[in-house]
Amino acid sequence: MRCLYCDRNIDKQTIKSVFLKEDELCPECRRQLRVNRKILDFDGMKVETFFEYDGIFRSLLLQFKECHDEALKNVFLYDLSEYINIRYFGYKILFVPSSKAKLEQRGFNHLEEIFSEVRLKKADGLRMIEDGSQEGKNLEERRKMSTNYVYTGAPHKKILVVDDVVTTGSSLKGVYNCVKTSAGKVKVLSLAYKCFTLHY
Ligand SMILES: [Zn+2]
Repeated sequence: MRCLYCDRNIDKQTIKSVFLKEDELCPECRRQLRVNRKILDFDGMKVETFFEYDGIFRSLLLQFKECHDEALKNVFLYDLSEYINIRYFGYKILFVPSSKAKLEQRGFNHLEEIFSEVRLKKADGLRMIEDGSQEGKNLEERRKMSTNYVYTGAPHKKILVVDDVVTTGSSLKGVYNCVKTSAGKVKVLSLAYKCFTLHY
């Protein structure tokens, strides 16, 4: 088997592979993609994140999203799926939707693929009101996007909002606010964060 990132041969006979499911990255790439769990606070909205949006994570996510390299879908949550299952037990996952144009262009929902090993039930009913992508927008314009979501799904006791990368936190905050009216508890998870958004 070859590493999906660097193409080096992976020696399957490592002790680790006996206990864990097979990693599709070599040990060196896995070391670079190390989990750096953080809880960010965006004006009272807590967001759990696992990776810095940089280096190998960024390359892998772009390759997965934009090059339709679906073989990569399990590398991100490789040893995190079980953690998520336990930590968010009883929550229903609500993915932050991509713009319609992006979704059509990709032909698949990358978040659904990445979280396919997570056993939590999925909720739906969230959509963007205005179909604008964040790309090419400045910070001020992004902040205004915070109200561009509407939730028309069923009310749930516990909802876990899931996104891939948190930047300003504004679009997540918009989702959080509109979902909050239909759920008892709302938690937020983003695979990665861009470091300049860190709030201390
Ligand atoms: Zn590698």
